[in-house]
Amino acid sequence: MSPYPGLMQHAQLSIIDILRFAAVAHGTREIVSKLIGEPIWRSDYAGTFARVAQAAHMLTALGVAQGDRVSSLAWNTHRHFELFYAVPGMGAVLHTANPRLPDEHLVYTINHAGSRVLSYDANLEEIVERLKPQFTTIEHFIALTAGDYDARIAGAPTIFGWPRLEENSGAFLCYTSGTTGDPKGALYSHRSVVLHALAAGLPGALNFSAFDVIMPCQSLYHATAWGLPFAGAINGSKFVFPGERLDGANLQQLIETEQVTFSGGVPTIWTMYLTHLDQTGGTPGSLQRVIIGGSAVPRAMAETFERRYGVKVQQIWGMTETSPLGVVSTPTPALETLGEEEAAEVIWTRQGRMMFGIEMRIVDEDGADLQHDGEQSGALHVRGPWVLSRYFRTDELATDADSWFDTGDIATIDRFGFMRITDRKKDVIKSGGEWISSIDLENVAVACPGVKIAAVVGIPHPKWEERPLLLIEAHDNADIDEHIIADWLAERVVRWWMPDRIIFESIPLTATGKIDKKIIRERHANLLL
Ligand code: ADP
Repeated sequence: MSPYPGLMQHAQLSIIDILRFAAVAHGTREIVSKLIGEPIWRSDYAGTFARVAQAAHMLTALGVAQGDRVSSLAWNTHRHFELFYAVPGMGAVLHTANPRLPDEHLVYTINHAGSRVLSYDANLEEIVERLKPQFTTIEHFIALTAGDYDARIAGAPTIFGWPRLEENSGAFLCYTSGTTGDPKGALYSHRSVVLHALAAGLPGALNFSAFDVIMPCQSLYHATAWGLPFAGAINGSKFVFPGERLDGANLQQLIETEQVTFSGGVPTIWTMYLTHLDQTGGTPGSLQRVIIGGSAVPRAMAETFERRYGVKVQQIWGMTETSPLGVVSTPTPALETLGEEEAAEVIWTRQGRMMFGIEMRIVDEDGADLQHDGEQSGALHVRGPWVLSRYFRTDELATDADSWFDTGDIATIDRFGFMRITDRKKDVIKSGGEWISSIDLENVAVACPGVKIAAVVGIPHPKWEERPLLLIEAHDNADIDEHIIADWLAERVVRWWMPDRIIFESIPLTATGKIDKKIIRERHANLLL
């Protein structure tokens, strides 16, 4: 107890209060959901709050109690969104399983979560049937369909006695995709989710208002779609859930019919979208802003969005362990002291600027602090109220004694507070005692006309330790070859960064839409440079 306590109320932060507020203050603001094999769904915050209460009654009747886990295996739909509030609201924990994980990881996460209920989208039933015998704790299966979920909640009271929960209670269980070893669980609390939502909506971050129409194209199972379901609801924004199909044509149709102003997702989605616009001659209409993260945003992508279509791109960086927002690229008046080109470089090539709530530092190999001069690069550490302290079901802290969490990324931070990821520690290429940034090389290569995706990995080399291998996936009908790429790079990167080999092939992606460097390394393990 403080010797001189403040005399204000001890209201516990609670996720259901976000929806309770939106249902009253923005009750008629719409929630729209595109479904497969069903008509488009239209409701609003008031209607959604009522259905969320019904869902909580349904789960209670199944025996779900406070602290229990409920898994979802689902796309971006209104039913999944309802579970985002119903499950934590009743004091249980929603484990958002990733349907794109390999079977063995999917089974691992659901068993590790110890879930009692598995709710799933109709077109994922085949996965559920196949893996059913391996689930050790699931007692109930709910199909997220009109015939099952809707029928189960129909008739239940539209008011629920939401329990007063301690704000540090677990609310969401999100697993990292396990690119190294078993997936690890981050257990978000009510407190961390609400604080993250408050901070994410700020003008210095995503700048949401009730006039926004948000279409989340990052998956609800990927770090809670970067917290948008909460940050948007706190601000009364309209939601458009695009379902499973995130192809350019589907997104474009929803943007046009629903007047979407804001969207977000990993770069691969936006590559598809921009290709679609290019091929059809369409324009993004009402779309004003797009946040892109999960992997580095190619500058060419940000430039095309902004210069050709007038859509603002904000790069964000984060990870499952940071809920996930760590930095957001937003301009600051201090940049006005720079020339136009230099300021553009900062805005378009940095992952983002520090936001309140996340402290950052970069350290060298001995753990000593490095300067924030935009030059020195080192291991990026973060801490704050929405950063993980321990992985689910482990005893040891995931941080050091001062709460610093080592992100596994290598970064620089400049004097304006902009952070730039130069690589993931395990992807950086060590050549002749120096480091080559795979991200930087990829960014240069992907800007070459005709290139769709570029991936760079280090290949063991007898003399230099490692040398870069560049893989290129070209756009359909693109007229390019190794020589064109090599000439393009030669004009833009230093000689010793030039890849030793350039290969054209299709590039594998992970369950979260990132370039799968593990598979690439395995594929080319026997390559001699
Ligand atoms: P997973 O590894 O399961 O896909 P995460 O989403 O937690 O899970 O991955 C976080 C990592 O993604 C970060 O540590 C970083 O390496 C990478 N990352 C995220 N955003 C960016 C970005 N804007 N630029 C470069 N890398 C990014």
